[in-house]
Amino acid sequence: MKIAVLPGDGIGPEIIAQALKVLEILRGEGMKIELESAAIGGAGYDAAGDPLPDATLKLARDADAVLLGAVGGPQYDSLDRPLRPERGLLRIRKELNLFANLRPALLYPELAEASSLKPEVVANLDLMIVRELTGDVYFGQPRGIEMRPGPTGGNERVGFNTMLYSESEIRRVAHVAFGIAMKRGKKLCSVEKANVLECSELWKEVMIEVAKDYPEVALSHMYVDNAAMQLIRAPKQFDTIVTGNIFGDILSDAASMLSGSIGMLPSASLDQHKKGMYEPIHGSAPDIAGRDIANPLATILSVAMMYRYTFSDSATADRIEQAVKQVIAQGYRTADIWTAGTMRVSCSEMGAAVIKNL
Ligand code: NAD
Repeated sequence: MKIAVLPGDGIGPEIIAQALKVLEILRGEGMKIELESAAIGGAGYDAAGDPLPDATLKLARDADAVLLGAVGGPQYDSLDRPLRPERGLLRIRKELNLFANLRPALLYPELAEASSLKPEVVANLDLMIVRELTGDVYFGQPRGIEMRPGPTGGNERVGFNTMLYSESEIRRVAHVAFGIAMKRGKKLCSVEKANVLECSELWKEVMIEVAKDYPEVALSHMYVDNAAMQLIRAPKQFDTIVTGNIFGDILSDAASMLSGSIGMLPSASLDQHKKGMYEPIHGSAPDIAGRDIANPLATILSVAMMYRYTFSDSATADRIEQAVKQVIAQGYRTADIWTAGTMRVSCSEMGAAVIKNL
């Protein structure tokens, strides 16, 4: 297993250091793991004048999986757009053709108080959103702003984008989503807006076609406006959700907040061959960088996802997730999830607690 490790900026190196401790333990037990690090984001710009240096992209291409911290920082905000750290991230996703974005939202019962919803509505939430990541209105052509005749005779500016999905794009993300639903609760909800949009009509048709290959999975359909409402009203009704790029962008951010702290949530972005990039959903948190207080659990849980989805090793994934559950049950808390009566620990102490449980 060759893993490209890209710590990035801000708290990236601190949280990645804790995830590497987990990989070192597994390696010590005899797993063949090759780790190689490279710079991305602001660190890439500092080292090579490019947020995605050629050497980093080559390393990521040659690896089986990529583990990423986070990118960005205020010191890079004045750079030209193509040189900004976030561009490195968008480019690596595109270059590696990572079209399926997996965003779990789960809430440990002990952290239910941290959610903005009532504990009984969210406790034990375990939901997976599969978002298509390389198509839809974000990429469809034509797009632009141009002058067109207005209602009163003169010209006015018109902005336009194209919502576009080919059936092959829908089919490949459908297969990923059905495959994931098979490994979870065998319930898949496809979210679209087929009552208004032809693009969504095709989405729904293809989902129904692909469902024939997965007779064990119960497929349901929901309009995106209703899905937004249901996520807040009764999120535990969902097991796996599959949706397009823009609907998924909005719904997955809403779902992530159900679970309190973004320091807890991992993510995966997969290509057609299960190669994946694994990263916490949060950013580089420059406000707390360098102080050893960040929550490393989202990054450690990203390693668990790597074992589940790229290395097809659910036993190791379960074991890492179990260790995280235990540290929460034992009362260890970094500052972002700390409440009275629990044990406040640093980023590295949290990493050490996970290792002890492993
Ligand atoms: P952020 O996610 O970095 O931080 C938001 C808030 O959450 C901050 O108060 C931060 O301290 C806190 N936080 C984030 N992760 C935490 C953790 N693991 N433990 C404890 N607290 C944590 O978002 P932002 O402040 O909007 O962005 C900061 C930088 O990160 C920007 O440059 C932005 O572009 C970049 N960013 C990168 C990614 C990524 O690399 N995937 C994602 C989002 C934002």
